[in-house]
Amino acid sequence: MSSPASSSAALFARAQRRIPGGVNSPVRAFRAVGGTPRFMVGGQGCRMQDADGRSYVDLVCGWGPLILGHAHPDVVAAVQEAAARGLSFGTPTPAEVELAELIISRVPVVDMIRMVSSGTEATMSALRLARAVTGRSKVVKFAGCYHGHVDSLLAEAGSGVATLGLPGTPGVPAATAADTIVLPYNNPAAVAAAFDVHGADIACVVTEAVAANMGVVPPAPGFNAGLRALCDRHGALLVLDEVMTGFRCSARGWWGLEGVTPDLFTFGKVMGGGLPAAAFGGRAEVMGELAPAGPVYQAGTLSGNPVAMAAGLATLRACTDAVYAALNARAGEVTGIVSAALTEAGVPYRVNAAASLFSVFLFDGEVDRAAAAPAVIDYAGARRQSAARYAAFFASMLGAGVYLPPSGFEAWFVSAALDDAALDQIAAAAPAAAQAAARVPAEEERS
Ligand SMILES: *Cc1c(COP(=O)(O)O)cnc(C)c1O
Repeated sequence: MSSPASSSAALFARAQRRIPGGVNSPVRAFRAVGGTPRFMVGGQGCRMQDADGRSYVDLVCGWGPLILGHAHPDVVAAVQEAAARGLSFGTPTPAEVELAELIISRVPVVDMIRMVSSGTEATMSALRLARAVTGRSKVVKFAGCYHGHVDSLLAEAGSGVATLGLPGTPGVPAATAADTIVLPYNNPAAVAAAFDVHGADIACVVTEAVAANMGVVPPAPGFNAGLRALCDRHGALLVLDEVMTGFRCSARGWWGLEGVTPDLFTFGKVMGGGLPAAAFGGRAEVMGELAPAGPVYQAGTLSGNPVAMAAGLATLRACTDAVYAALNARAGEVTGIVSAALTEAGVPYRVNAAASLFSVFLFDGEVDRAAAAPAVIDYAGARRQSAARYAAFFASMLGAGVYLPPSGFEAWFVSAALDDAALDQIAAAAPAAAQAAARVPAEEERS
């Protein structure tokens, strides 16, 4: 054990004095689950250590980027080598060309890529481009989908906005919000109706390839294809946000599994291997409108940063089809363990999965059979989960050294480094966590 001065509690107290809420991204603050956020100081493979010397099996993996686990030797070596050559030049560098080519070799319906530093920038820039090429201003998004903290996309957003129960956010001008049409996910009729009314003004539909920021909610069969058809009919662009799913659900992302081709993709998370890198890309005639080739301005001091590019290249090169098969199998083992424990404890639950992405929704009440839990197909369904039950489950798992996402509105992430000992630890921890969740009184009895 280290000294109290370096413990998570002491660090959090210091952080709260100098950083709003003590964190640099809201869900990290543990508001939805209670307790003190753990300040991490190291990680290897599927484990990480906090400032108090405790070790955790990590099922968050940096919110997705660490698909190979912490400090993968190839990635660390690539970053060290790149850093030693220079941290940033503010000029083009070879690595950004290599990463653009590698991404396009995986997703060959993309002709051109522009690198940015975060998923937020990628979606923000994709929207600007879609509005520019169509000459229209309205954007369709889905309730519960998160596309970063872009002004026009924060309405009924997932992730931290859902976790904190915010309807939207102050600071977004009414005129901006007015150009955003928010529709229920997995509801093609609602999209068709919106196009009937606003078709001539809709620049684009933006959707997560698989909704995964309200918990994981896969698109119903044909939903994404239906968006493609409606966009085509009305001259709007389809923006497929693969920031989470890209190079996570397969080597070719969700696109590689489903094959619905958008006009613009956004990528992030895995493609940066744990460093700040993201991108948007699409057909040459659309991407060619970007400055300096075209008139649509977009820029970044650190865009295509050589150290971030090196991390992304090393990560993607190590992500073979065999790695994806292993990730899917590991995800299945984790959901199997958790499902068995919840069933045994009588907690109604629903596991939603898309390749190795999954999340577990816990509900109030008691059941004999897991099948009693309702299907979660949209944000309204995701919001019916019991936050209190998830908090109890989370706290018990945390105490047993298993680090889950600190909100029921977030996906769980496995890495290729998840080993048998880690699975044993999850299996040993899950029954008590499920019982802790079962002991939480139902919503109506609580207040
Ligand atoms: C994480 C995420 C973003 C935002 O990416 P940042 O790098 O956090 O800005 C956008 N879209 C989706 C689908 C995401 O999961």
